[in-house]
Amino acid sequence: MTSSPAATVSAGPGTRPAPADLLRRLRARGATDPVTHVERVPARAGVPAPWPQWAPEELRAAYERRGVVAPWRHQAEAASLAYDGQHVVVATGTASGKSLAYQLPALATLLADPRATVLYLAPTKALAADQLRAVATLELEGVRPACYDGDTPRAEREWIRRHSRFVLTNPDMLHHGILPGHAQWSGFLRRLAYVVIDECHTYRGVFGSHVAHVLRRLRRQCAKFGATPVFVLASATSGDPATAAGRLTGLPVAAVTEDTSPRGGVTFALWEPPLLPSDPSTASPEASPAAVEVADLIQVRRSALRETADLLADTVAEGVRTLAFVRSRKGAEVVAANARRALDEAVPGLGDRVAAYRGGYLREERRELERALLHGDLLGLASTNALELGVDLIGLDAVLICGYPGTRASLWQQAGRAGRSGQEALAVLVARDDPLDTYLVHHPEAIFGAPVEATVLDPANPYVLAPQLACAAVEAPLTPADLALFGDGAKEAIDELVAAGALRQRPTGWYWRYRERPEVDLRGEGGAPVCVVEASTGRLLGTVDGGSSHFLLHRGAVYLHQGVSYVVDDLDLTDGCALVHAEEPDWSTHARDVTDLSVVSVRSYVDAGPVGMFLGEVDVTSQVVSYQRRRIATGEVIDTRPLDLPTRELRTVAVWFTLSPESLAAAGVAAADVPGALHAAEHAAIGLLPLMATCDRWDIGGLSTAVHQDTEAPTVFVYDGHPGGAGFAERAYGTASAWLRATRDAISECGCETGCPSCVQSPKCGNGNNPLSKPDAIRVLDVVLANLPA
Ligand SMILES: [Zn+2]
Ligand SMILES: [Zn+2]
Repeated sequence: MTSSPAATVSAGPGTRPAPADLLRRLRARGATDPVTHVERVPARAGVPAPWPQWAPEELRAAYERRGVVAPWRHQAEAASLAYDGQHVVVATGTASGKSLAYQLPALATLLADPRATVLYLAPTKALAADQLRAVATLELEGVRPACYDGDTPRAEREWIRRHSRFVLTNPDMLHHGILPGHAQWSGFLRRLAYVVIDECHTYRGVFGSHVAHVLRRLRRQCAKFGATPVFVLASATSGDPATAAGRLTGLPVAAVTEDTSPRGGVTFALWEPPLLPSDPSTASPEASPAAVEVADLIQVRRSALRETADLLADTVAEGVRTLAFVRSRKGAEVVAANARRALDEAVPGLGDRVAAYRGGYLREERRELERALLHGDLLGLASTNALELGVDLIGLDAVLICGYPGTRASLWQQAGRAGRSGQEALAVLVARDDPLDTYLVHHPEAIFGAPVEATVLDPANPYVLAPQLACAAVEAPLTPADLALFGDGAKEAIDELVAAGALRQRPTGWYWRYRERPEVDLRGEGGAPVCVVEASTGRLLGTVDGGSSHFLLHRGAVYLHQGVSYVVDDLDLTDGCALVHAEEPDWSTHARDVTDLSVVSVRSYVDAGPVGMFLGEVDVTSQVVSYQRRRIATGEVIDTRPLDLPTRELRTVAVWFTLSPESLAAAGVAAADVPGALHAAEHAAIGLLPLMATCDRWDIGGLSTAVHQDTEAPTVFVYDGHPGGAGFAERAYGTASAWLRATRDAISECGCETGCPSCVQSPKCGNGNNPLSKPDAIRVLDVVLANLPA
């Protein structure tokens, strides 16, 4: 579309430098050139298409008022398929105008049939709010679009159910609110013509599997009222979107994948921060919380956070509107704070033009930041997630990506925020001290020469299927006719629910036995979010997901919010609430956990002589047991303090390999070095797995031991961090030799001598990266690769 509001945004003072000049200045800053590769992504001309014949004049006129003269060909193609009743997914780049592809058939139908309704699902409330604005500005008679989510006042909800014909919501609200209240929604569901699923590639792993069943429950309720809505899905560029969309909806879905929108050229640089001098005391001026995390180690690269903060400050100082993507909440806050400080030192007050943005902020705060960037009051933003930003924030002059975002698909999505139509933009991937990032900046072909990953989800995961069937049974008793809808494993899951006493079988179907509904959280095992509350005022600062709360909000933890530092007084897990007070100590905190693992069953294995490769179910028990306080300025460890938090249990899927002690001895690994060798190989293998599967290292855990009680051999385990597994370990097993080959190369190609965070050290190690042996890890992997069939 040509109507992007971004086109009207003023970027700030002066003329902006050309990306190539800007990059030249940025890379000339230090003593060594940090850029390992520059890729020119060429500009592309758009291919317009005529408006489809069926698009009513009123609708065309509304778009033309907004500056959309004609659709691009992929928009028209997807829209026409949907209008003809074909389920369709449009999977094209960021800002390629996917919204027109679903708005056009949906709105044309609403105009033609005054009773029809449309349900729009976005993964976040912010995105739904953006879409609401986009549909509302078309000012179409009788559509009455409205958001229906957790922020919708009670008083408005009934009006929306009765009168809105274009309801925008999210899968959580569909699951917790709309489907359980289907009786109140009967009028809306009976007339449902389209279900729009925006950003559908975000429904992956366990979350995606849950959403797949929520959609099946929606189809079931619609069918009860005689409605068979057409599903229109929008996805970022991904591998095989038709299959993924089919798994998500349970329906045959056609795919439109050729992006025919115009695109400005992007200069894409791969950036590796330099190694710091090995004496930690000389490293101190560079210290940031991320650097501090590893500063007690021998060799350290300059932290990607600090490097990104400097780049953000430099681009903002040049008047370049820049978005920095940082993976963690804490990281985004640190980048914004450091960039602000650097700018204020240069020009007092200039720091005010940089802010942090992440999920978990309150709605008013999110809106305020979005508004400020749109109006050019802000020039730089450090953010955790593109989706939270909503659709308006495209056409930036530069995008900084602090750390590989886990998949090529997300990398391209983030980079796609750069470039207004017809203008060149800059994208920079700043490598973290991490084996995968290091591998990628030295193997650009793995980024620019490889197709994007397919979205992985597994609706047959029994840990998802059973609770979803319970929810479905509450909405209406399950019948044999429902089994095909819920797919493989549905009958087994129902039998188990009956055996557990949750369902009762009667002649008319399976009935939910309890008064209360089952409590099912779509967002996986994370549990309910924990509220962060300032104790003295009662002010709600934000929320942290349950899974991270033990790490981030334990008693004594330093918690950052909008660059302001707080210290946690108390974490109440029963109430889901952490009480904090504002305080800026000169230390950071780092939680440590201990993990135990036992093998439940083996699904599949490869017997390769002295080496065994296994896939199976495991039980993992972990507990956050202590935290370290480290001096921010020097990285010095002040002390380690015990914590008394409950253990967390996880039954999941793991891949593991064993080696015979003899093969290790023959390869030159001394018995005393086996633990360090396996531990180092484990860390690097976890770091490289995202090259093979659509996960990131935070989705995966590992454990290595010189003798494991279940395998009775030296063993390295890598497991899915989600109950029941999410397909990652399975994918690792299927690609084992390629995965471990890349792991070996990443370790051996790293320039450090004894191991660094770019190869064998892990930022989330429960043992403080001890013991680790880099040379012996290479020997271990050589033994595995020599024996494992390719
Ligand atoms: Zn290294
Ligand atoms: Zn470790």
